[in-house]
Amino acid sequence: MTEQANVNGTAESGRVALVTGGNRGIGRAIAEDLIAAGYRVAVTSRSGEGGPEGALTVAADVTDAASIDAAFSQIEAELGTVEVVVANAGVTKDTLLLRMSEEDFTDVIDTNLTGAFRVIKRASKGMLKARFGRVVLISSVVGLYGSPGQINYSSSKAGLVGMARSLTRELGGRGITANVVAPGFIETEMTAVLPEATQKQYLETIPAGRFGRVDEIAKTVRWLASDDAAYVSGAVIPVDGGLGMGH
Ligand code: NDP
Repeated sequence: MTEQANVNGTAESGRVALVTGGNRGIGRAIAEDLIAAGYRVAVTSRSGEGGPEGALTVAADVTDAASIDAAFSQIEAELGTVEVVVANAGVTKDTLLLRMSEEDFTDVIDTNLTGAFRVIKRASKGMLKARFGRVVLISSVVGLYGSPGQINYSSSKAGLVGMARSLTRELGGRGITANVVAPGFIETEMTAVLPEATQKQYLETIPAGRFGRVDEIAKTVRWLASDDAAYVSGAVIPVDGGLGMGH
């Protein structure tokens, strides 16, 4: 869709947005926020169920390129070309280096980093044709800050920074932006499973003195997807209460 205003009076609303892992946690909040802004939203979950009301939920596993291709084809048929893609699906498999198996490492990379690659590669086809695209990669404060027990996870999240910046250099002249959002400690199922002592330790180091909320990530993503952010690309935007400051 081009710069035409629609019922909500903004050019961006009416565009098709896809959020991977949009059935729960941060991804679900992003999907809900984009729906509220007037986007036509699709989400993926591995089961193909559980997306928010108003979203098209499709099945996809980001470790499987064929399932991503099928999901895009379904979204294109039902909603149109995906112009905004939020690569949010992610997993952790935390353990200290000496105990981390090669599989623990490669599994996390395969979902968080290679998974994002598979999604943006498929999305770029439509974006190039549309000469418009917004890519938002959900990284983490630990990608640049580091975290003991998360060598696999932090490597995958740091890799997303190189991915967004290379994408910016490759496709930046075609109306496509690519940015990274780096959440700090956000209250979701992923963080609820962390030991209480780890949570307490984090809390003490966060200048804001509290954990973040999923809607605080969603609002940043919504802005990056909007026309207001057309000249922002290759950026890493921390939403972490000051935890990673300077990293
Ligand atoms: P959740 O564990 O609540 O949700 C993870 C999402 O990823 C689910 O929707 C899940 O789908 C999906 N997913 C996992 N593996 C795959 C896969 N192979 N293929 C497709 N989808 C998959 O996580 P959060 O909401 O907390 O995290 C969302 C993102 O934000 C992640 O990338 C995470 O690393 C990042 N993040 C989170 C932080 C936090 O504090 N919570 C902090 C910094 C970053 P399904 O339901 O099908 O399993």
